[in-house]
Amino acid sequence: MRVSSQDQSILVYLHKAMTAHPHLEALFCFYEQLFQIQFTFKARLKEDRHLEYLEDKEIDLARLASGIPQVSFDELRIETAPFIDLYRDITALLIRDTGYLPPDNREPQQETILAHAREIFDSRVPLVGAGQPADVIRTASGLVMAPYLQLACEFLMPRITQDAWHRGHCPVCGGAPSFAVVHAEPSFRTLLCSRCSAEWSFRRMGCPFCLERDHQTYYPSEEGGYRLYVCEACHRYLKSLDMQESASERCLPVETLATVSMDVAAQGKGCLFF
Ligand SMILES: [Zn+2]
Ligand SMILES: [Zn+2]
Repeated sequence: MRVSSQDQSILVYLHKAMTAHPHLEALFCFYEQLFQIQFTFKARLKEDRHLEYLEDKEIDLARLASGIPQVSFDELRIETAPFIDLYRDITALLIRDTGYLPPDNREPQQETILAHAREIFDSRVPLVGAGQPADVIRTASGLVMAPYLQLACEFLMPRITQDAWHRGHCPVCGGAPSFAVVHAEPSFRTLLCSRCSAEWSFRRMGCPFCLERDHQTYYPSEEGGYRLYVCEACHRYLKSLDMQESASERCLPVETLATVSMDVAAQGKGCLFF
């Protein structure tokens, strides 16, 4: 199964980033395999016409106006697709390449995987880092959702205009942002959804998590253009890239990985990962 050209370009960026940041080779190696598994499964979903109904579905203006994401967990229709194959591949990768231990019992029931996925979806947390290191079942259940969410985003996001949504969470799936790009003229930010990779605009200043406008501290990084915004009100943080200081083309899902040292620094200061 061939992955889409868009997903292929993310893999190419990932490979370039691996060369540019040799000390992060193990991290990039893991994500290269994870993305390959998720992108291949997404191509399979597409071929099976899964979620194709979203392509024709009108954008729900009432949801847009009241801040409700375009898709609910049930609307992803995960239970009707062969998600257990994806679950098995992701679990095997987590056990082989990270510190996850194999589960004590046999493979969980499909209902257990779906219950974890639903809880992660509804709590709006990022898919990566959604589980404790000991809980491979919960972590894999979250990561299983990525192809469904990204596919929903591909079908819906091109029809959501940039002036229709300025909230701190994703218009497609409700996920929290994991990265921001700061633009100068006009002055605004683009936020990246940590779950479905949607990008939407948000005001230049203020915290997207608690919407507090003041009490933001930012720390520039040694590498050009990166900033770490810390909210003193809710103790969450947002990694950002200032486009004024960065001329080259960027792939945001890869930027979030290449800036992992900022996560380590922020969490070291006691900031919360979402
Ligand atoms: Zn999203
Ligand atoms: Zn905040």
